[in-house]
Amino acid sequence: MTLSYNAPHISAPKRNQIHFKPQLYLPGTYCPLQSQFSLASLTSFRVGGPAEWYVAPRSLEDLQASFEWVQHQKLPMTLLGAGSNLLVSDQGLPGLVICTRYLRHIEFNNDTGLVTVGAGEPIARLAWQAAKRGWQGLEWAVGIPGTVGGAVVMNAGAHSSCTADLLVNVETISPSGMIEQLTPQDLGFSYRTSILQGGHRLVTQATFQLQPGADPKEVQAKTSQHLKQRHSSQPYHLPSCGSVFRNPDSHAAGWLIEQIGLKGYQIGGAQVAQRHANFILNCGGAQANDIFQVIRHVQQQVEHHWSVWLEPEVRILGEFQLG
Ligand SMILES: Cc1cc2nc3c(=O)[nH]c(=O)nc-3n(C[C@H](O)[C@H](O)[C@H](O)COP(=O)(O)OP(=O)(O)OC[C@H]3O[C@@H](n4cnc5c(N)ncnc54)[C@H](O)[C@@H]3O)c2cc1C
Repeated sequence: MTLSYNAPHISAPKRNQIHFKPQLYLPGTYCPLQSQFSLASLTSFRVGGPAEWYVAPRSLEDLQASFEWVQHQKLPMTLLGAGSNLLVSDQGLPGLVICTRYLRHIEFNNDTGLVTVGAGEPIARLAWQAAKRGWQGLEWAVGIPGTVGGAVVMNAGAHSSCTADLLVNVETISPSGMIEQLTPQDLGFSYRTSILQGGHRLVTQATFQLQPGADPKEVQAKTSQHLKQRHSSQPYHLPSCGSVFRNPDSHAAGWLIEQIGLKGYQIGGAQVAQRHANFILNCGGAQANDIFQVIRHVQQQVEHHWSVWLEPEVRILGEFQLG
């Protein structure tokens, strides 16, 4: 594999520094390219091994360079937002992980009520900013710890609302560098899903239609109320990915799991939450494989008792072992 060193940006070794690892950059950019980069701190489960290669682009040019590099090297590629709906293998991920966390900007249009947001903006931060202006529409999103890009891809939702309800337009870039403007009709939205899931088109920004003109105090109060309600009913105190399973048509997944006595079921540091049976918590020192095994056990037990196979909402990436 050939790697370009961007000579002017190789940092000099400090005095008395024995081991010196030169900083690599994506060719033609100032965007650091890091090898064997730990992903555990970038996922809300706080588990997972390293990315073979990792970049966090700050601009469209960095993104295009990332795509060019990964294609040139013929490596697989994984897209990462805030990592709040991902279970990454303890063995890590091959190829390049592209993280959108630095693709941030928010533009409120006071005339139209449209807000255009960079993919890496936390959706909860956007919800608070809208509330402070007295713009209604995103109060439900305040407890979702993901990015705007992740919310679009997952069609994140809560309190009977979801991302697709407000979305007007999404900008994506494909590995070939093609930039597309897509409407909700193009994205095949349904419950916690869109056609972007598992694909290679990266959401760079999204535009939402909100309703300006309300009393900011009222919108903030409603937003706070939603957050309070979630903190009282869901376990936010330990690492998790939120709801692990999609709700099947018949019943809520949490109810099916609770009824067969699986609350508190634990393997290693991974436990089915006492407060909400559709959450699996990292109670400390969990491996990704512990979480995976709890997921499989829950699926098997629910199928055995209810003849329903629970589909994970969490995206499971990399290799796992059973038993
Ligand atoms: C405590 C907690 C509570 C939660 N509550 C809710 C809830 O109420 N409702 C809900 O819907 N979800 C909830 N979640 C799950 C999660 O926050 C959402 O699914 C969120 O939208 C994921 O966004 P993310 O940026 O973290 O995406 P990631 O987890 O990083 O990625 C999710 C998927 O989106 C892809 N992706 C991410 N960004 C991009 C991009 N810019 N372009 C293309 N693909 C991309 C990834 O490749 C991956 O397939 C919760 C999670 C936690 C930890």
